[in-house]
Amino acid sequence: MSDLILLLAEHGGGRVRLPTWECLGFAQGLASQLKKHVVTVVLGKDIDSICAEIAAGQQQSVWKVSAPELESYNPDYFSAALGQIVQQARPYAFVFSHTYRTIDFAPKLAAALDIGFISDVIRCRVEDGRLLFLKSAFHDKLTAELSFCVGPPYLVSIQIGSFPADAAQRGGNAPVEDKFVDLSAVPNRRKMLQIVQALKNQVDLSKAEIIVAVGRGIGKRENLKIAEELAAVLGAEIGASRPLVDMEWLPRDRQIGSSGQTVAPRVYFAVGVSGAIQHIVGMKNAAFVVAINKDPNAPIFKIANYGIVGDLLEVVPALTEAVKQQRAQSA
Ligand SMILES: Cc1cc2nc3c(=O)[nH]c(=O)nc-3n(C[C@H](O)[C@H](O)[C@H](O)COP(=O)(O)OP(=O)(O)OC[C@H]3O[C@@H](n4cnc5c(N)ncnc54)[C@H](O)[C@@H]3O)c2cc1C
Repeated sequence: MSDLILLLAEHGGGRVRLPTWECLGFAQGLASQLKKHVVTVVLGKDIDSICAEIAAGQQQSVWKVSAPELESYNPDYFSAALGQIVQQARPYAFVFSHTYRTIDFAPKLAAALDIGFISDVIRCRVEDGRLLFLKSAFHDKLTAELSFCVGPPYLVSIQIGSFPADAAQRGGNAPVEDKFVDLSAVPNRRKMLQIVQALKNQVDLSKAEIIVAVGRGIGKRENLKIAEELAAVLGAEIGASRPLVDMEWLPRDRQIGSSGQTVAPRVYFAVGVSGAIQHIVGMKNAAFVVAINKDPNAPIFKIANYGIVGDLLEVVPALTEAVKQQRAQSA
């Protein structure tokens, strides 16, 4: 086993993605505690500019793994390429961002190497030289601490937004080293037909002063109108947690969170939103948070300034009525 901590760079559209720097901060922190070295691995084709961008931003090494098969994402090629890198480098750990791709290829990689994989890590600590990883369970109601029974290498994915990108020590001019993988024997079982670009946001929630964000607790599509009525009397924009958008109850440009918009309103109403970290990262800069949830242990209450424990179907219309009356009195 070497003393390397590898991390996989996330990139797309010719740019390095933010989670790369979050993972770098995490990997550097771990490396300094354990006296290891960090190497950023870049997979793809025509990735010189990506490697250069990463190399300019850090002091440690960058490995460029370029192959025609890696031009677009394919879990067979990705896991085979990373498997070969692990066999060559025998790293102490390999760190990934917890993205849809990682969820897709990392279990396959771990199974091929016959090692463990701990996913969606939000914190990590070292105890007697052993790595202990925290992750949330049951919609953030519980936190589980896990460690590996086998390894190194240790494969982990880091929840987006759990480690600040600013913590990464930047500045430097890391050497870029070519690493070669042979993917010719890997069967090509799927083909990228087309990349469909998501529609550009038509609603810019980042400028909204007040947001009424609706979560799965709303229950039925027809119930959205009670949140829309509250938004109307407050002059607020409607926002949503991801499940509502996935169910197509609200358009994608209303989604707030790690894969949606990032907002910083003066007041944020979280209506039937549990407060999963992927939602919180998109709204944690709200100046004032009012949470309405029937579960007193919902994580959203941890960051709420006002928490109302109750059925939103009763609370929201009552709030709308109270605002209307207030407006009528002051008119
Ligand atoms: C890679 C990745 C990216 C993601 N990106 C995002 C993102 O950008 N944005 C996002 O929001 N999520 C995102 N998610 C999903 C996220 O993990 C959560 O699953 C999601 O935020 C949960 O949405 P929710 O709070 O609406 O639903 P739930 O977690 O189901 O919570 C519903 C809440 O409503 C409450 N409730 C139920 N009925 C009532 C009632 N009658 N009155 C009052 N309260 C009630 C419940 O107590 C519960 O707390 C992402 C996940 C992954 C893996």
